[in-house]
Amino acid sequence: MVKITAIKEVLKALFKPATTKYPHGPPSHVPEGLRGLPQFKDDNCIGCGACAECCSANAISITDTGDTRTLSIFYPRCIFCGRCEDICPEDGIALSEEFELATSDKKEAEVSIKFTLVKCQECSSAISTKEHLTKIKERIMKNIDPVIADAVAEDLAKYENLCVECRRKLSYQLNTHTQKYYTRGWEK
Ligand code: SF4
Ligand code: SF4
Repeated sequence: MVKITAIKEVLKALFKPATTKYPHGPPSHVPEGLRGLPQFKDDNCIGCGACAECCSANAISITDTGDTRTLSIFYPRCIFCGRCEDICPEDGIALSEEFELATSDKKEAEVSIKFTLVKCQECSSAISTKEHLTKIKERIMKNIDPVIADAVAEDLAKYENLCVECRRKLSYQLNTHTQKYYTRGWEK
């Protein structure tokens, strides 16, 4: 009986091999939920930098140079934790099914996307990307009580093209800075 079963298996294997040719052919399957190479989704990413902030392996970096923000992933540092995908508010990055990572070309070890930076209209320092600032504005206006929507839109128009420091100064000048009421001897 055992012999018949074995012969059947041998005959079956003649027509349908039990093994695959991987790595000389494609793998048989990719397991569901595999944490593969993280990849930016260019159409969704707004260049906010939240993923870089939360990447404990320091694999994602943000560099602001002149008018350009460059967001990069350096794959050799990635530990495939998936934190960047979890934290991203815009579905701008996701772990893929790509797991064949060996390369002899250093350029393939890093991917980048670029954004145009918005500069502060007072001091010209970089604020953030246009896409990021637009999204912030959209979110504020979407969640605001309609009763105060006009007042908020007016305030946004005053502050949206200013960096954090210049916003603080303006709110102080306009007498709306809370610290002015609570901090003694704080003048600037
Ligand atoms: S949108 Fe997502 S992927 Fe893009 S910078 Fe922000 S957190 Fe990172
Ligand atoms: S998967 Fe983890 S280590 Fe890799 S880029 Fe995302 S946050 Fe960083």
